[in-house]
Amino acid sequence: MTRHDDDRIKHLHDWLRDAHAMEEQAETMLKGMAGRLEHYPELKARIEQHVVETQAQARLLKECIERVGASTSTLKDMGSKLMANAQALSGMFASDEVVKGALFSYAFEHMEIASYRSLIAAANAVGDAQTAATCTRILREEEAMASWLEEHLPAITEQFLANARAGQPAKR
Ligand code: MG
Ligand code: FE
Repeated sequence: MTRHDDDRIKHLHDWLRDAHAMEEQAETMLKGMAGRLEHYPELKARIEQHVVETQAQARLLKECIERVGASTSTLKDMGSKLMANAQALSGMFASDEVVKGALFSYAFEHMEIASYRSLIAAANAVGDAQTAATCTRILREEEAMASWLEEHLPAITEQFLANARAGQPAKR
């Protein structure tokens, strides 16, 4: 193995750890969001479904990391969880919490999509077909979540405005 190969594998391992930290962050944020939603049952149910998917994604990534013999970085995960809690907390003070949450989730799913597309290319570049397959499977779930949010963002916004106009609880 040349020095060059070493660097490529080191980057792949780093990015797998980053993805694992990202999923831990996602789980904390999604749970926080779903737990607070009261008047948007469809959104709440879709987020809860994605919490389950996200937990499985984190497990799959951990398996990848262990299989390739990279160490898991607890420190990074802890930092991400703190950030996720800060994000969940900041939403609580917005009078349009549900809309802000939906926007943030939509953006976050696209960050995940970008990460997995990059990871798939990196895994293929070093000939790690199993990691590429796992990341492709996860990518499909992120794309499905992003599509759902894209499709439902207008209705969520309209319902928020209608509730607010009728003097009904609308914030979450
Ligand atoms: Mg994810
Ligand atoms: Fe996701």
